[in-house]
Amino acid sequence: MFIDFETFRTRADKLRALMDEACVAVGRHPTEVQLMPVTKNHPVAAADYVVRYGLPVVGENRVQEAVEKRAASTGPLRWELIGHLQSNKARLAVQHFDRVQSVDSEKLLNHLDRAAGELGRTLPILLQINAGNDPAKFGAEPADAPRLLDAALAKPHLRVDGLMTIAPLGATPAETAGHARRTFANLRHIRDDLAARTGAPLRELSMGMTGDFALAIQAGSTLVRVGTALFGPRT
Ligand SMILES: *Cc1c(COP(=O)(O)O)cnc(C)c1O
Repeated sequence: MFIDFETFRTRADKLRALMDEACVAVGRHPTEVQLMPVTKNHPVAAADYVVRYGLPVVGENRVQEAVEKRAASTGPLRWELIGHLQSNKARLAVQHFDRVQSVDSEKLLNHLDRAAGELGRTLPILLQINAGNDPAKFGAEPADAPRLLDAALAKPHLRVDGLMTIAPLGATPAETAGHARRTFANLRHIRDDLAARTGAPLRELSMGMTGDFALAIQAGSTLVRVGTALFGPRT
């Protein structure tokens, strides 16, 4: 059985308090970091709880699942894609998502730009970078980030808001934390470099999940993507 709204509210209040604490500890203002609940693998009620709680956005990692939930959910909500996107689903993604965070190749940029043009819209995107050099993770290699960004900035129907990454897991909690610190510092460094080189602000740094959001906030995250801490384990 899925959690009830009061359970969600309690967890969200607690998570937000921990996020605010992490901000204050490094001299950041809590309003600098947004919470994006990740509703993947959970029923449409999860999205409805987010609306009722008063947050404006959710993350999903599969196109088809999100399309169905979005149709069934009520109330105003933005939907963002955070999972790997195949080029042949680009058009569907442009139709159903407010932003795509998982853009990791020029081929995908081409497909998204063409679809956005045909549908008469500008699609906000983030470039997903494999900033932890994790062989098991999607995302462009850091060395390819400059070329990918140049290609993205040249697209008339795309708007690049910033970068996204996922930190690799380690064999122990200490190793996982070490990977997270290194990955998040690296993404921020890549962003600062790219912003200085191109003049694009790239203000969004989407990094941090249930296990590592505090470390991500320390490193400059502007958006944490949290599922488990809010909705419980995924089945
Ligand atoms: C599932 C997922 C999350 C949320 O993970 P939790 O550990 O459950 O908070 C965040 N980002 C991405 C890209 C995901 O796929």
